[in-house]
Amino acid sequence: MTRALVTGVTGQDGYLLAEQLLAEGVEVFGLARRADADVPAGTRVLVGDLLDHGSLQAAVSAARPDELYHLAAPTYVPASFEDPQRTRREIVDATELLLGAAAGARVFVASSSEIFGAAGESPQREASAKRPRNPYGEAKLAALEAVAAARARGAFAVAGILYNHESTRRPERFVPRRVSVGAAKIKLGLADELTLGDLEAVRDWSAAADLMRGATLALRHDEPGDYVLASGVGRTVSELVAVAFAHVGISVEGRVRIDPQFTRGVEAVPLVGDPSKARRELGWEPQVSFEQLIGEMVDFDLERLAAPGSSR
Ligand code: NDP
Repeated sequence: MTRALVTGVTGQDGYLLAEQLLAEGVEVFGLARRADADVPAGTRVLVGDLLDHGSLQAAVSAARPDELYHLAAPTYVPASFEDPQRTRREIVDATELLLGAAAGARVFVASSSEIFGAAGESPQREASAKRPRNPYGEAKLAALEAVAAARARGAFAVAGILYNHESTRRPERFVPRRVSVGAAKIKLGLADELTLGDLEAVRDWSAAADLMRGATLALRHDEPGDYVLASGVGRTVSELVAVAFAHVGISVEGRVRIDPQFTRGVEAVPLVGDPSKARRELGWEPQVSFEQLIGEMVDFDLERLAAPGSSR
């Protein structure tokens, strides 16, 4: 039986990936900060923290994984400015430790489109210039370099350069979930309007389940490498709102208020990924369309908010 260790198993991706692996019959160990963490049934929880290297080492020793998916990280980009050193320790040092501890296992590390920053070209490919513009992106770039260094030493280490991806498990501080909750609330008469930052900001959104399938394909491929996992399509926040509102049959007119507090600043170039390498080498194809993804998120929030006793 294949044994997998998933770090960040309480997060959006870790939870979905653990579900996918359990459905395949893989024995799944999940690294979480608490023993009573909410994880998919059947997952064996190992307690650990990215800042506690002993706990990471112990988790690898206990799980003896064939596959290690390293997904845990502080993931809210604006917060990385508050304590860049901590961000670096959590992302870079922990990745290096795990790559060393798991020698012999195949390791997948979640990198990010934020490594490109002012890349100068759009869409970005694996070989595009990497000029991160925030401490999170800098740390994710250093972790990507650690993966390449491990590979050069003979390890089977791969990285997914992940663009934005969403699901019903995404917190509301991220725009698509904010929009799905907002559309559901307006539809149910629980709110009059939705507050957003920049409607013209462009993002490349995918379904989280599609990207996690890409992660397993990369980890199980013949040769280790780095892969951009993205939809390849840039969409504005305006388009996102239009899809969500159309799904529940409400008009956008007069329903969206702009609050600069939610603006993240203009991107040097739109962060849109070119997933050609993953398509060509891994045979990876997204299965969930943008409309389907947003529709499922809105439906989930409609049902949740309409339920008696919902926290709203
Ligand atoms: P989430 O924020 O949903 O989950 C993050 C996970 O990391 C949680 O399980 C969290 O645990 C855990 N974690 C954070 N800090 C620590 C720590 N110090 N010690 C142990 N665990 C910790 O993120 P996603 O699932 O969305 O992202 C997964 C990976 O993909 C991340 O590495 C992220 O950077 C990367 N990525 C994600 C993108 C996206 O659009 N979702 C885009 C690009 C990259 P807890 O529940 O205890 O907080």
